[in-house]
Amino acid sequence: MCLFCKIVNKEIPANVILENDEFLAFHDINPKAPVHILVIPKVHIDSFNEVDGSMMQKMTEFIQDVSKEVHINKSGYRVITNIGDNGGQEIKHLHFHVLGGAKLKWEHFSDSDPQGHF
Ligand code: AMP
Repeated sequence: MCLFCKIVNKEIPANVILENDEFLAFHDINPKAPVHILVIPKVHIDSFNEVDGSMMQKMTEFIQDVSKEVHINKSGYRVITNIGDNGGQEIKHLHFHVLGGAKLKWEHFSDSDPQGHF
């Protein structure tokens, strides 16, 4: 069972922000911003590559609710999902990073090689 499935099953503790029947939001253990929340589906889906549109519709509304819950909806925030090796996905259970609480920089691409991909 993957790490995030264990969090869903309460085998591993998490600092939960918001939860419903299908989704769970909790604080990232290694925050990259003053607010750094992970949003996951409770069912195991490997990554964004495998999720369907109907789940994404509900996930979108849940993420919007999370942003209101932690009061970053007006100040602004960033939603990221990493996919596969090049995307830097470490945990193979679909998750969205919700980052906010400060003016975020846009520096994650400084180590990429724009020539190398096409
Ligand atoms: P990614 O690199 O997109 O797969 O992101 C995985 C994220 O999970 C990282 O930001 C980690 O800090 C976070 N993480 C790993 N273990 C835990 C945990 N037990 N509770 C909360 N967040 C975690």
